Amino acid sequence: MAGLQEILDDIAAALADETDRGKVATYIPQLARIDVRKFGIAAALPDGSTLTAGDAAEPFSIQSISKVFTLAIALGRLGESLWRHVGREPSGQRFNSIVQLEYEDGRPRNPFINAGAIAVTDAILAGHSPKEVLGEILQFVRAAAGDDDIHINGSVAQSEKATGHLNFALAHFMRAHGVLQHAPDLTLGTYFHQCAIEMSCAQLARAGLFLTDAPGVPRMISRGRARRICAIMLTCGHYDASGDFAFQVGLPGKSGVGGGILMIAPGRASVAIWSPGLNAQGNSRLGTKAAHMLAERTGWSVFDGRTLRA
Ligand code: GLN
Repeated sequence: MAGLQEILDDIAAALADETDRGKVATYIPQLARIDVRKFGIAAALPDGSTLTAGDAAEPFSIQSISKVFTLAIALGRLGESLWRHVGREPSGQRFNSIVQLEYEDGRPRNPFINAGAIAVTDAILAGHSPKEVLGEILQFVRAAAGDDDIHINGSVAQSEKATGHLNFALAHFMRAHGVLQHAPDLTLGTYFHQCAIEMSCAQLARAGLFLTDAPGVPRMISRGRARRICAIMLTCGHYDASGDFAFQVGLPGKSGVGGGILMIAPGRASVAIWSPGLNAQGNSRLGTKAAHMLAERTGWSVFDGRTLRA
């Protein structure tokens, strides 16, 4: 195998001239302004090094990737009782779909679709103010990344609040079914801010290292929980394209409408990719392609027997 730096450089170079880059998310007005030509990739390794290519130092809106961190916090806070609020089955539906909620009495399928993530944020709000919860999320992410220079972009959060009617619909529906404990305005105010955290690929890759369960990496949560979060990333992290991501890439991943993907190669690396143009399922178009290329070139896969024998 070529060196990892060479692989990252090759991927960035191969995708630089791609003309079909997908479409940036426009339903959050602040995200519509991002340059679709941006591309960054970073791999954080257990030895403390971070390899990068392209625009890997430029902060972007992590959006739904924040759901990985809030799930980790919620499992730490509530333990197994979290699963009373949210399921852990793939939805096979768009990330902001409301249709399943009606059939399933307001209990969302999993923590990574919008409804599920809103329920998780609502659960960690119990006994805490939005400010405290956002402080805790930032503290977790900063500690995981080993970097205090990670912030929330308030204007992205405001911009989503002004246009987030679908998320309000989901929240009110769940509140009507007693799944949410707080006023939708309070829970969504917190949720929009967690989604508006900005990180560069290099920061995000380092923040994901705790999920690799590699020796020497600071343990933020128990080994069993890290493994289960990865399982949900694999089965639900790309919404109705999760099956295809598992098929093509074979690694747990979580995408966001900012165009980011966090991907975990257990025991080996945490990888972040950013390309703001999205495909039809709301996942980064070139990010998905880059994830596939990286998995092919490195041979990293949770289904690779050599990984398990090592
Ligand atoms: N904040 C976004 C929303 O709720 C997150 C969605 C996403 O990244 N897929 O719509």
